[in-house]
Amino acid sequence: MKTLLKELGIKTLNSGVYAGHWINKPDGDTIVSINPYNETEIAAVLSASKKDYEKVVSNSLEVFSKWRMYPAPKRGEIMRQISLEFRKHKKALGTLISLETGKILAEGEGEVQEMIDIADFAVGLSRQLCGFTMHSEREKHRMYEQWHPLGAIGVITAFNFPGAVWAWNAMIAAVCGDTIIWKPSAKVPLTAIAVQNIINPVLEKNGFAGVMNLIIGGGETIGEYLIHDKRIPLISATGSFVMGRRVGSVVGERLGRTILELGGNNAAIIMDDANIDLTVRAVVFGAVGTAGQRCTTTRRLVVQENILEQLTNKIKKAYASIKIGNPLEKGILMGPLIDKQAVDNMMIALEKIKNQGGSIIYGGSRLKNKKGYFVEPALVLAKKEMPILQEETFAPILYLIAFRDIKEAIEVHNNVPQGLSSAMFTKSLINAETFLSHEGSDCGIANINIGTSGAEIGGAFGGEKDTGGGREAGSDAWKAYMRRQTTTINFSNKMPLAQGIKFGD
Ligand code: NAD
Repeated sequence: MKTLLKELGIKTLNSGVYAGHWINKPDGDTIVSINPYNETEIAAVLSASKKDYEKVVSNSLEVFSKWRMYPAPKRGEIMRQISLEFRKHKKALGTLISLETGKILAEGEGEVQEMIDIADFAVGLSRQLCGFTMHSEREKHRMYEQWHPLGAIGVITAFNFPGAVWAWNAMIAAVCGDTIIWKPSAKVPLTAIAVQNIINPVLEKNGFAGVMNLIIGGGETIGEYLIHDKRIPLISATGSFVMGRRVGSVVGERLGRTILELGGNNAAIIMDDANIDLTVRAVVFGAVGTAGQRCTTTRRLVVQENILEQLTNKIKKAYASIKIGNPLEKGILMGPLIDKQAVDNMMIALEKIKNQGGSIIYGGSRLKNKKGYFVEPALVLAKKEMPILQEETFAPILYLIAFRDIKEAIEVHNNVPQGLSSAMFTKSLINAETFLSHEGSDCGIANINIGTSGAEIGGAFGGEKDTGGGREAGSDAWKAYMRRQTTTINFSNKMPLAQGIKFGD
């Protein structure tokens, strides 16, 4: 572990504030990063105070005035260099992500791959920040729109994707000409420091230290400073619904912009004509991957009643073969939850399930024989009226709900406050297209014969309803990081007014 931490520049005690340079001794509390596998300390971090916060913001604003004038394709070239650095440190950073979050190594490395992918995407995007040209109704007038950088933006991230979510925001915002102030989750501060250490030499070498900055601290302190700060035009926040509602209302009050990426309560509908073996593979990855702690985790299986028993037996069998243990060990498919609170929350949810008439047909215990925050994944036979089905429990609990026809399936599917990811398993074109139609899934992501989790960066990522409505990563999500300007140029010697208005002629 020592070599790994050394490669990533992690010391026993680290500064958690970068404002164009590491702030030597930030004034905030000391945060200890705990390995959820064995409850031991990995390293500690000095978090930011209000004074440190001010340094980060003023530096980000200063660097913005220079960065915005640097041509976008040249900004893209710097993202290319960053992408190469991520490739160089993929193994070490992936391992640190596994150590800090408890996700298995394949997923830790997969997360770094996602950072590489979005950096590569940003390189291409840097030559494609295009606006429309429109035909003017006035003679010898040209009308078009152009996109300008927004400013220093705030990026608040959740614990479960400690690198990728920042990269989705930072790579895109940076080619758009913004500077970035990153407030990661205080549960996973070391990944953020490692990422900052990886990108710093590239930005410094190019004369742009401080395009991407870091400020580690609590949501109630640093998070609150950021969301109240009128100098920050955009807050991109990923996390729980409770956090998102707070961020949305505070930033909305000052008429700032937000990108909100909040909780999901994702369902897959399994029709009786589905390829069952393929379905089981997708469902098990979707429900148990990252120990049920992905925003896109499959939480509800809506199953046609005539195949419920067959499917349940197959999933049970697959669950029984899942090896739970050290996330860094080969063959392990499920690591621990992030902390004791997460385990307690799962146990509380299971109690509620029993009280509401659900039956736990597999797993659900706390693994007491091991150190660390381990649980068994749970399978629950649920009734569609159970109130707990409306909530996102951030743990590996999978509900099985029976339905008769596709109309009922879609009703059950959509009958939750969240709207992130969704899936249907079927071989029927009619079923698939119905699910994807206006009367089908109400989510931001809808898949056929693919599980709810594991999105690619090329598409815009995000969800509807209580998931917040934000979009990040690919497609035209970049537009949220820029301001649009509509421009009209008169190249005649006359002064015609729009709508043919005559004013004093
Ligand atoms: P969380 O809401 O507890 O914390 C997320 C971040 O918000 C942290 O950095 C935290 O410090 C900050 N925060 C908390 N209160 C704040 C405040 N008042 N002002 C500003 N910032 C504040 O979430 P978590 O437990 O870290 O992550 C799990 C949640 O994140 C789940 O609900 C999951 O579904 C969601 N999530 C969503 C997506 C998505 O893209 N939709 C991706 C990953 C995680």
